Amino acid sequence: MRKESLASKRRRAGEILRRLKVEYPDARCELENWKTPLELAVATILSAQCTDKRVNMVTPALFAKYRSAQDWADTPQEVLEEEIRSTGFFRNKAKNIRALAARLVADFHGELPGDFDVLTKLPGIGRKTANLLVATVFGQPGLVVDTHFIRLSNRLGFVQDEDDAVKIERVLGDIVPREDWTAWSHAMVFHGRRCCNARAPECGRCPVAELCPAKIG
Ligand code: SF4
Repeated sequence: MRKESLASKRRRAGEILRRLKVEYPDARCELENWKTPLELAVATILSAQCTDKRVNMVTPALFAKYRSAQDWADTPQEVLEEEIRSTGFFRNKAKNIRALAARLVADFHGELPGDFDVLTKLPGIGRKTANLLVATVFGQPGLVVDTHFIRLSNRLGFVQDEDDAVKIERVLGDIVPREDWTAWSHAMVFHGRRCCNARAPECGRCPVAELCPAKIG
């Protein structure tokens, strides 16, 4: 395959985003029910290896019960495990949520900090979650490299056979203008869920098919 210049990739990405914004004008984070940064952080921890739909079924009761970082930190591990069991990997998730809450109480007056680098050092918060948090609640650009983002970055030919989220974040961060990072992230998730599925991408009705080297048919 002919090597594509960075300038060409940037142009192509710009047109892809333009078309996906038309296709998905309401693209956004699909985790619901949260009102505070900490609640979104909890929902994001719960969403690992779980659908947003399932998380959205569990969070109303959780957020009604736990009103502060202190509440989450004080709850016994086994109680929280039972409450979040249906999201899978519930032992680890409960451990991470309680550790995060305890750290916020100890060092941040119970509030989630808005700084990306500080966020990534907190328990249970990786780069993906930190990017989602800064983009969604702190109004800063963020590239949220989840499974859809990784799959589409490969199919759209911006990376080749790459599954390292940090590398993909770096490469796409250079192709997509910073001010578009958040919109790009939401567009990747929406398109990945609604058209460019993992098993059977629907290239025949894809609005970016002519810009995609992986187009089938
Ligand atoms: S053309 Fe096919 S593989 Fe490419 S983005 Fe569209 S659905 Fe995905």
